[in-house]
Amino acid sequence: MASRRGAGGRHIRDRGCKAAVLLSWRGTVVSISMGDITDQDVDAVVNAANSSLMGGGGVDGAIHRRGGPRILEECRRIRSESWPDGLPSGRAVITTGGLLRARHVIHTVGPVWRGGGHGEARVLADCYTSSLALVKEIGLASVAFPAISTGAYGYPVSAAAGVALGAVKGFVEREGWPPAVSFVLFGGEGLRAYEEAAARLARGV
Ligand code: ADP
Repeated sequence: MASRRGAGGRHIRDRGCKAAVLLSWRGTVVSISMGDITDQDVDAVVNAANSSLMGGGGVDGAIHRRGGPRILEECRRIRSESWPDGLPSGRAVITTGGLLRARHVIHTVGPVWRGGGHGEARVLADCYTSSLALVKEIGLASVAFPAISTGAYGYPVSAAAGVALGAVKGFVEREGWPPAVSFVLFGGEGLRAYEEAAARLARGV
């Protein structure tokens, strides 16, 4: 396995088409790598859901397909008991991980990109902090995030990467939790955007 110094991170390890940047923020180990969110062996994976919580395409479809019907059953119950009009953007709820390797799924609704002048960055940051607040409340030790809003919701991935890393860094530095956070990108463009955002964050720009 080749190893080289990564942009803004400690190491990049090349494993075929996969790469991982490892960072450490106040004791939290943060990894940035390419992969499928439904493969992650973590306490919770985050779903880029829509406000209906009834499933959809992209990450949402993949999680429900592989996780089986118990996830949808719990989403239905959450809708009827807590969010009859749908989960608002920026909020998060938690269900079982069903048949996934992950023990739980945290469902959050990202903002739809409308040019950047409609509070999209604040709502996207809220997705990360609301998800991490649940992780802390329940005492989960590891969580994996996809690049929320960068698919069907159209958020440019380079901008979304900066928001995602900034929000998570702020949370872990304030709260000292959780011990492990992974950002799992589906393709090379997303991976490069996150590497560059990590480098910008390390330089403080
Ligand atoms: P949104 O509706 O919030 O934009 P999407 O699910 O359409 O959410 O896409 C979010 C990001 O997740 C996109 O960059 C997409 O390429 C990526 N993605 C899609 N499927 C997966 C998966 N199985 N694992 C990780 N990332 C995925």
